[in-house]
Amino acid sequence: MGSPGQRVLLIEDEAQMRRFLRAALTAHGYRLVESETAEEGLRQATAYNPELVLLDLGLPDLDGLEVIRRLREWTAAPILVLSARDQEEQKIQALDSGADDYLTKPFSTGELLARIRVALRNAERVGGEGPAEATVTVGDLRLDLARRQVFARGREVHLTPIEYKLFAVLMKHAGRVLTHRHLLKEVWGPSHLDETQYLRVYMVQLRHKLELEPARPRYLVTEPGVGYRLRTPS
Ligand code: CA
Repeated sequence: MGSPGQRVLLIEDEAQMRRFLRAALTAHGYRLVESETAEEGLRQATAYNPELVLLDLGLPDLDGLEVIRRLREWTAAPILVLSARDQEEQKIQALDSGADDYLTKPFSTGELLARIRVALRNAERVGGEGPAEATVTVGDLRLDLARRQVFARGREVHLTPIEYKLFAVLMKHAGRVLTHRHLLKEVWGPSHLDETQYLRVYMVQLRHKLELEPARPRYLVTEPGVGYRLRTPS
């Protein structure tokens, strides 16, 4: 359930998709403003200052990436992109341009609400003024940032420095998809943005150390062609 009245801006040209989203969001207490074009959406965004934006990548007037770029000039509100199956490349570019997550059409109401909750929660945590949290817990995984310790099901797990860095990035953004480029930049630095095989190797190692069934991960999941996500239990 969203906090009552959280403001969502929907930019989507397909009437059927808008109807579906309107029904799902208003039934769960979100306040919705709709735009059918990018230009109208950008105007609505400044007038309405939404807490979250749902953005269709295939709009008639402007490229979705351009919309993200313009929004990011002044707002940190989470942007979830809605993409079609044949928009893999744009979806990745959207994430690298400042979108927070994506939903591939068709998606269920459950998926939609879960992604929105995660995005709003992350935005709240980043924007909140309080001291940084010293520990992050997701299901039965725990990360103690002050002591640099990691626990799975109550038992301490020893990670190498690289494994620790990768795991910490995923935990800090729990629930959210992180692109290969994002992870490579944070863990290995900007000169290693194409070394996706590093990630593959280290994710296998992390799964072996942290997952009960490494071949069927509960937490450390692959987003095919895009990156990885530390899944939060629903
Ligand atoms: Ca469209």
